[in-house]
Amino acid sequence: MSILDINKIRKDFPILDEKVNGRDLVYFDNAATTQKPSIVLDALANYYGHYNANIHRGIHFLAEKATSAFEDSRTTIQKFLNAAHKEEIIFTYGTTDGINLVAQTYGRKFLKEGDEIIISTLEHHSNIVPWQMLCAEKGCVLRVIPIDDKGDLILEEYEKMLSEKTKFVSVVHVSNALGTINDVKFIIDKAHAVGAKVLIDGAQASSHITIDVQALDADFYAFSAHKLFGPTGMGVLYGKSDVLNAMPPYRGGGEMIKEVTFEKTTYNELPYKFEAGTPNIADVVAVKFAIDYINDLGKENIAAYEDELLKYATEQLSDISGLSIVGQAKEKVSVVSFVLDGVHPQDVGVILDQQGIAVRTGHHCTQPLMNRLGLPGTSRASFAVYNTKQEIDKLIAGIHKVKKMVL
Ligand SMILES: *Cc1c(COP(=O)(O)O)cnc(C)c1O
Repeated sequence: MSILDINKIRKDFPILDEKVNGRDLVYFDNAATTQKPSIVLDALANYYGHYNANIHRGIHFLAEKATSAFEDSRTTIQKFLNAAHKEEIIFTYGTTDGINLVAQTYGRKFLKEGDEIIISTLEHHSNIVPWQMLCAEKGCVLRVIPIDDKGDLILEEYEKMLSEKTKFVSVVHVSNALGTINDVKFIIDKAHAVGAKVLIDGAQASSHITIDVQALDADFYAFSAHKLFGPTGMGVLYGKSDVLNAMPPYRGGGEMIKEVTFEKTTYNELPYKFEAGTPNIADVVAVKFAIDYINDLGKENIAAYEDELLKYATEQLSDISGLSIVGQAKEKVSVVSFVLDGVHPQDVGVILDQQGIAVRTGHHCTQPLMNRLGLPGTSRASFAVYNTKQEIDKLIAGIHKVKKMVL
């Protein structure tokens, strides 16, 4: 039994009262995006209703209030990641944006022809394509850590790949498609031993796992607010300050400059050097409330409860004949991908939707992983702290209905 009061938590998320196709909504698509608690919705309305102003540049009351809320959020995130310095927290538009930033600045400046970049089979497209673009431009070589049939990375193969040619390693902390938790500390240490820098895609990890960028010794860590109860279009890139300082800016414009003349521009210091233009102020302000919400519940408590849900769902799903769970890694978060013999994942999704149950079907932005597994896609149920075992029972009943209707 969880020490969290799940019924009370559910009341914090107004969307959970919605009806879908005449049924109570069962939202099991949390790996795509999580729902937002009232405290985050209120923070957005409060910002726009009471102190909307552009930040940093103004000296009037509203501008100062907005700036201070915006910078409070940076401090909250610094603590959330245990970063050594506040200026190591760069606001982005999401994980994708953070990875592109690093590929286009660090990558373009420091990588050259023949250098090797290592990613893994578990990567989301957003941690594949930016590196392919860089490789096409610079003549670098992309190498891919293989997985075993359970969905764990084969780390002995990774160790064999490492050499003085390895200049960058970019791997996912937690797989969005299979739920695998990677041993990123090991990956980082081995990369550092050959002098490579490491980026961790923390899009899925940030809501499930306590992150300590200093203990990990990550050079970069990227995540998106919308996957941890915050708004869409807002994300964070953590970078070590000496690495960030050595990088050229990404986008040019207002805020990222110190002084501009037509002849020459000098750039602002960290973090502003990487925050050109008016940022996503309201969403940055609101993410602080999402993180406070998580901290109040306690990440360990959340993880323990989600683990209960994962175990329960895994047991119940395993009892369904013709159903196989895809991804049985040693350590997993609360994501269950599955296939049903003779039924296309899309049909599973459509029939579950008729019963008010939201799951994701398809390749989950991990086409190369699906190719490796020899699957066109899977159906994926991903759980958050507001989900319940009763809802999992509805999923199980729903899948039996799918079998009746299709088979
Ligand atoms: C969602 C996700 C991304 C991309 O995040 P965006 O918010 O779409 O930029 C990257 N990696 C993983 C593992 C994800 O789950």
